[in-house]
Amino acid sequence: MDFRFEFRRYSLAFKHPVRTSRGSWANREGIYVRIERPNGSVGFGEAAPVPFFGSDSVQLSEEACISLGSKVDEEVLSRVPSKLGTLRNAIANALGETRDETVHSSLGVAALLPAGRAAFKEGPIKADAGFRIFKWKVGVGAPDDEQAMLDDLIGALPSGSKLRLDANGAWDRRVAEQWLGRAADRPIEFVEQPVAANSRAAVDTLLGLAGDFPVPIALDESLVEEGDVTQWLDAGWPGYFVIKPSLLGDVRLTLGKLAVAGARVVFSSSLETAVGAEAALRLAFSWPGKASALGFGVWPLFADSRFDGPAATPFFRAQDIGATDVEALWNAVS
Ligand code: MG
Repeated sequence: MDFRFEFRRYSLAFKHPVRTSRGSWANREGIYVRIERPNGSVGFGEAAPVPFFGSDSVQLSEEACISLGSKVDEEVLSRVPSKLGTLRNAIANALGETRDETVHSSLGVAALLPAGRAAFKEGPIKADAGFRIFKWKVGVGAPDDEQAMLDDLIGALPSGSKLRLDANGAWDRRVAEQWLGRAADRPIEFVEQPVAANSRAAVDTLLGLAGDFPVPIALDESLVEEGDVTQWLDAGWPGYFVIKPSLLGDVRLTLGKLAVAGARVVFSSSLETAVGAEAALRLAFSWPGKASALGFGVWPLFADSRFDGPAATPFFRAQDIGATDVEALWNAVS
């Protein structure tokens, strides 16, 4: 049975360039796919690789789309290489293969705070809006300075608040130990990616830190390649898994393993547009495990606000997911 396959590549300016460890990121590039079945039903998906994150790329995905041609069948996924995780994800979404029943009626959302002292001002604003889970970027300034700010930031937030510290792999083991020691008697939900993920030694370091300190550690940059989640589950990782569903080529399989293991999962944005975000959020709402506050407090994100997902609020409700006019966005990138 022939399905009609189409794709459109897009390049969309962020409202403000995104700061990354590799410099400034100004434009979100990706691909929308559209699959129409013989009965006329249509599904959409988004392939939005993160530059320098894994071996996936927009260019390779576009080449794969061209080679698929305009007619595909139900076995189309078997023709997309596993290293193109975001394209596999997009096609699975367009085929409707990632749709499961919703199990959460609402999920909390973490508020993003800027690095450094700017968080002192932003934190109370977000707290007034109702947020109680906050994520603070650390590893940007000198460790001594940032550690000295920690108690002031906690003091600026309502009691009962929880703080996530995201180091993006910036620390060495010694600095990570200082932070984890300091976090132990403070309202820190977890410390995210304290050390870089670039070596076999990093695995031992992370497992060692997780065993030595009571504050949980979350893996983010350690979960880049297909199979990373499975390896960490097999290693008995006791901390959190930051999962960006849009980047996972076999997303249902991976989420299924995490659920069976009883893992603690933080569903997070990969700065995709509303097309991919809607699919990712739907997966979060249908995941049967205990879901932590969502890492989807990222919007407004794009210069053209039509491509934004739901504006960050302290909670997302299941009934609000699916409000995106996906077809309009497909038409907008033609
Ligand atoms: Mg992170």
